Amino acid sequence: MMKLRRATSLLLPALLLLPALHFAWPTAEQVTVEAAALPDAARAPADPAPFPEEAAIEELAEAPLTLDAPQAAMVEAVPYAPPGTPSPEPEPAFTEQTVTVASGDTLLGLLTEAGVPAADAHAALAELLPLFPAHRLRPGQELLLRFDTDDETRLMALEINPGPGHTVAVERQGDGWLADEARLPEHPHLAQVDAVVTGGVFPALVNAGLPANLAYSIVRAFSHRVDFQRDLRAGDRVAVAFERMRSEDGTLLRHGRVLYAALTLSGQTQEIWRHEGPDGEVGWYDAAGRPLAGGFLRTPLNGARMSSGYGMRRHPILGYNRMHRGVDFAAPTGTPIYAASDGVVHSVRRERGYGNVIRIRHPNNVLTLYAHLSRFAPGMAAGTRVRQGQIIGRVGSTGMSTGPHLHYELHVNGQAVNPATSRLPAPPALAGRALLQYQTARTDLNRQRARLARGLTEVALAPQ
Ligand SMILES: [Zn+2]
Repeated sequence: MMKLRRATSLLLPALLLLPALHFAWPTAEQVTVEAAALPDAARAPADPAPFPEEAAIEELAEAPLTLDAPQAAMVEAVPYAPPGTPSPEPEPAFTEQTVTVASGDTLLGLLTEAGVPAADAHAALAELLPLFPAHRLRPGQELLLRFDTDDETRLMALEINPGPGHTVAVERQGDGWLADEARLPEHPHLAQVDAVVTGGVFPALVNAGLPANLAYSIVRAFSHRVDFQRDLRAGDRVAVAFERMRSEDGTLLRHGRVLYAALTLSGQTQEIWRHEGPDGEVGWYDAAGRPLAGGFLRTPLNGARMSSGYGMRRHPILGYNRMHRGVDFAAPTGTPIYAASDGVVHSVRRERGYGNVIRIRHPNNVLTLYAHLSRFAPGMAAGTRVRQGQIIGRVGSTGMSTGPHLHYELHVNGQAVNPATSRLPAPPALAGRALLQYQTARTDLNRQRARLARGLTEVALAPQ
């Protein structure tokens, strides 16, 4: 007992240095390599030790801290067994079998192949499927099967890992089966990618290593402020700070949220921070606490090129000069069209010139119009409430149109205005206590990012 406690207290100084290692852990693959550097890190503060106690600490710090290190063995060698404690129940003996999923396999097929009777296989899977839907089965995944040692077709348990650090299992319990799920505790780390924008913000971020869904969320966030088709220039930059969730031993479990992004266009940088607002809604805010959403999307569809601007022009079909009361975005038929802002559908109908057209009413007497649609999204009808970014229909070429495009109009107080240039009523900024909370969180995150800027690829964040 004494020996055990002593080992623990001696280990403590070395363990305190452990968090420092997280900073140098860029990827899961490198973790094993970095862990080997521990003795160096532990040795760093070494000074001549005047007291025997410190010398002992130092000696311990010199030793490689791996699973088979002497101190681990020391703990192992002194099991705690108070007198009179009955020895624990012997672990039931199982025969284990690991099955690797191949393309085209099904869970039922794999169990049948392993010799599990159909009734058992069905009963076990009925419990497993709510936690592990069949469509999550991937080639390369491993299925751990436990059989009764006395009856090698009697399945006792089944275990699978839907993702790193995530285990789903079913186990025979009496006459039935019991499902269980376990996840390794997640430790948030902050990572940042910084990329030169060539050929678009999205590909630049994905090429820099940001997962596609996170890159997409950034493009969506900035689309409130930036018309990517018009505003991007060669040499523009984008930076994104995001979470990586790691296990205790540094294995990458999953990516978390994007917390910050900066877009530099023609030398001008726009920075945005993710924040939970006073109403509990999560959104993007600028440095002054102004929300990005709630205004109007400048481009109500993705990846479109503005093919015709607002103003007088020669009409492509009518052949004479007339006012173009909106802007046109060329895009392939079927491209989703988004509601430019929160509102209520005013009308959904087919008209001679506009073809399939939707009008949406927004607060402050603003109306948006979307024309030439190939089809309307399900549920679109006068009175339907829509959220900003919600799909309301698909690009087409119905009505008076020479090819697939979206004709988009913006009306304020009954007058058509130029959607590309008009300033619309902005949503309210954070104020008072809410602003204070936001600025505190922002300062804290910026401090972490500053550590990344000093050459570290990742910093550990305080758990939430
Ligand atoms: Zn048009």
